[in-house]
Amino acid sequence: MRIHLRGLVLALTIFSALVATANTLYASYRVQREQLISNTLESNRVYAAKLAESAGAFLKSALRQLEYSARHLSARIDVPELLAAEASRLQEQSDSFNTVAIVRADGILLAASNSLRGFVGTRVDSVGSLAALQARKPLVSKLYVSLTGKQLINVSHPIRSDDGRYLGYVAGTIYLSQEGALHTLLGKHHYQDGSYLYVVDNEGRLIYHEDTARVGESVTANPAVAAVVRGQAGAQRLVNTRGVDMLAGYAGVPLSGWGVIAQRPAQATLEPLDKLIWALIGYAAPFAIAFLLAIWWCARKISQPLSQLATNVEHEEVAIAMQRVQSVKAWYFEAQRLKRAVIRSFTSLQDEIGKLNEASITDPLTGLHNRRGLQAAVERLQAARAPFGVIALDIDHFKRVNDTYGHTVGDEVIRGLAQLMRECSRPSDVLCRNGGEEFLILLPGAGAKEAANVAERLRKSMETRSLHGTSGITLSAGVAQWPSAGAEVDAAFQAADAALYAAKQQGRNRVVTHAP
Ligand code: GH3
Ligand code: MG
Ligand code: MG
Repeated sequence: MRIHLRGLVLALTIFSALVATANTLYASYRVQREQLISNTLESNRVYAAKLAESAGAFLKSALRQLEYSARHLSARIDVPELLAAEASRLQEQSDSFNTVAIVRADGILLAASNSLRGFVGTRVDSVGSLAALQARKPLVSKLYVSLTGKQLINVSHPIRSDDGRYLGYVAGTIYLSQEGALHTLLGKHHYQDGSYLYVVDNEGRLIYHEDTARVGESVTANPAVAAVVRGQAGAQRLVNTRGVDMLAGYAGVPLSGWGVIAQRPAQATLEPLDKLIWALIGYAAPFAIAFLLAIWWCARKISQPLSQLATNVEHEEVAIAMQRVQSVKAWYFEAQRLKRAVIRSFTSLQDEIGKLNEASITDPLTGLHNRRGLQAAVERLQAARAPFGVIALDIDHFKRVNDTYGHTVGDEVIRGLAQLMRECSRPSDVLCRNGGEEFLILLPGAGAKEAANVAERLRKSMETRSLHGTSGITLSAGVAQWPSAGAEVDAAFQAADAALYAAKQQGRNRVVTHAP
């Protein structure tokens, strides 16, 4: 089965429309997507940088407070009450520290605020303390677990005498749980349009995370953490330690070596995009449907003339087929050409058929009817039940004509007689060469007498006319009439034949009329 033109046009148009639409949608999807990703990366980068700056400022202010205390304490290092008062003041004056400790150069705790007071006089050998004693400079410790089992960091400042001797340090601890200042500082920021924040220490361990249970966990496997620990700042798309596709921005806190990472799941960022695309499709759909209907209508209009031409051409009667083809509305150039070509070929076909029909009922030598032409004429007359006269003619001694003048002249004589027959008859008469030098004439509406008159005129003309240098060529004729010769048409022909035979018998060059 072949494809219909209409289906073809429709399919082609729908296909190209779909491809174009899909292409546009895809291109705009890609552009939007890249835009969203780069926007998110940029806003997370800025966000991380801002929070890193806040954290840096917080640590700086904490160190400044400790520095101030350290300066005052150098002269009072041997007065325990003053140290205790300073420790309490430091803790209570601001929310920066959870505990405050003043430690001598040999590691002995000289004074402490609240919960640590019980340990005054003992040696402090926590990670934070050892680091502070060793560094002898302002320091933010890495994450460690305190004697009381809390995760914390320690901010310390050395205490030096006026002549520069190292006397010990004053330190504040910051719990990494919800009670701590770091949590208070970052906790109010940790969510911003789906992004969340976490902070790692210089070894890549979490010191702040919205999920406090994760504090202390090492996340160096996260590429952003790895980058920020190396001291880099920036933004990148990455897969985090939990296997989630993330858009992360990161920045370091130079003072402590910490890294702040702000990240947002890529999926959360791209979610609105899917909605956007669906909304686009939704807006485009009514137009697309209208467009398809228009295309369907056009396809119909385009294929209509061709399919009508094809259908109409098929009628078995050429004339009817042609009439139908004429009625087809060929509204565009190619259809019009096709229609014209079909009509042209129909016309010439009809002409050819007409010529063939004519040839098949005509005698080529004389142009008179042949037997088949005669037959058709007889049928017509019979159908009209119109009476007619019959003359049967035969040239006398024609063999001799041929023998004397040759066959070519014989042919000319036959042609000459045909011409005489035309001259002596009316247009409605049917003239026929029956074969050889024998002829028949039907005279519609004529009686036997009338027919005999015509035959006689013809005989005389033949007798007197010299055809092509011949002389004395005569003819004999037999006359009959239908229906007076018999009900059957054949009876009239037989009667005319019989009369012709009689004319030959009676000496030729004469007309004999059949007597019914
Ligand atoms: P009759 O008076 O008895 O009719 O004598 P006839 O010689 O005319 O009779 P017959 O029927 O025996 O001979 C007819 C001759 O006509 C025979 C044939 O050679 C010749 N003839 C038939 N058809 C043609 C033709 O188309 N052209 C020519 N030149 N001669 C023809
Ligand atoms: Mg003959
Ligand atoms: Mg003859």
